[in-house]
Amino acid sequence: MEIFLRVSMSNSLKHPVRTEVQTFKPYSPGLSIEEIKKKYNLSRVIKMASNENPLGASPMVQEVISQNASMVFRYPRANNPELCRSVAGFLDLDAASIVCGNGSDELIDLLIRLLAVPGQDNIAAFKPCFSIYRLQAMLSGVEFRQARLNNDFSFAWDELKDIVDEQTRLVFLTNPDNPSGYAATAGEIIQFCAGLPEGSFLVVDEAYVDFADPVEEYSVLPFWKKTPNLIILRTFSKMYGLAGLRLGYAVLPEILADYLRRIRLPFSVNILADMAGQAALEDQDFVRKTRSVNFEGRAYLSAGLKDLGCEVYPSQTNFLMFDPPGNAAEIFDALLHQGVIIRPLDSYGFNDLLRVSIGTAEENRLFIQCMREIIS
Ligand SMILES: *Cc1c(COP(=O)(O)O)cnc(C)c1O
Repeated sequence: MEIFLRVSMSNSLKHPVRTEVQTFKPYSPGLSIEEIKKKYNLSRVIKMASNENPLGASPMVQEVISQNASMVFRYPRANNPELCRSVAGFLDLDAASIVCGNGSDELIDLLIRLLAVPGQDNIAAFKPCFSIYRLQAMLSGVEFRQARLNNDFSFAWDELKDIVDEQTRLVFLTNPDNPSGYAATAGEIIQFCAGLPEGSFLVVDEAYVDFADPVEEYSVLPFWKKTPNLIILRTFSKMYGLAGLRLGYAVLPEILADYLRRIRLPFSVNILADMAGQAALEDQDFVRKTRSVNFEGRAYLSAGLKDLGCEVYPSQTNFLMFDPPGNAAEIFDALLHQGVIIRPLDSYGFNDLLRVSIGTAEENRLFIQCMREIIS
């Protein structure tokens, strides 16, 4: 066996993987607490890097998970019909238009494979954008086009329109946007969507929309029924604090939802995520609490950072992007040494900017305190 492998590798395939894979650069995630504790020999590390919920997950959801731990020997129901009905009830839509996924990441990947023909079709987005859009397009061998954001990080609609053509199957838009925190109004987005060529779908990734104020001004959900080429993505990773469980959903035309359900691996949303998602939607008290902690923290951090001489970008999300006085990489590093993990934005092409997730009042205070020591 060993001999066979060695012979076949050396003889037939110098690079035994597809070209797209050979050049694939993996997603670069935020650093983990354990990594940093070990590396800098710290006992207390706070993570404000990945836009996770600082309150954790709802106690009601945690209860459902522990009560159902014994059920993990069962397969979940294929395609999670009960969860889809819960989501549909929550959104006041038909369950036939809802597809759940192993995080919205899985749905991004599947939408690309559902609609875009490699070597023929293309996908468009702003630059920079959430890297998963580009990575999964590349993996599928589908051309990925990007239009630059305006200098103030607002959406350059005309530039985006310019790169779209008859072969554009999907346009990805994150609203509110990551990493800037900028949000366009629902009206602007729907207007852009209406101008797309036939056969192009606009995917609005609303991962952060629950943090916008007011949500109604920014979410395109109320327009969905009347906009046939609109797809909406939502996640349980941010507002609902279930990033580690992996759960997201798409709202899309019934015909696409039906195909998406057929191609999705049947059990990609596991049985605990299925139950947790239903419980999470029922605990809207937790959502209100999270929103209020986020609003207070956002105002506190924004004022604190400005006080220290940072340029802080307006945010409708659970994070702030800022331009510090001084070298961003050095400040990031100095924070790490003090046990505070935030996010450098060099992977987005912004070497001078940093992103911090809104934490608890205590975490926010600690972060500002460390920043003050570093900057002065
Ligand atoms: C965090 C985030 C998501 C969520 O992804 P999951 O796979 O659901 O955890 C989606 N889109 C953007 C832009 C994000 O920042």
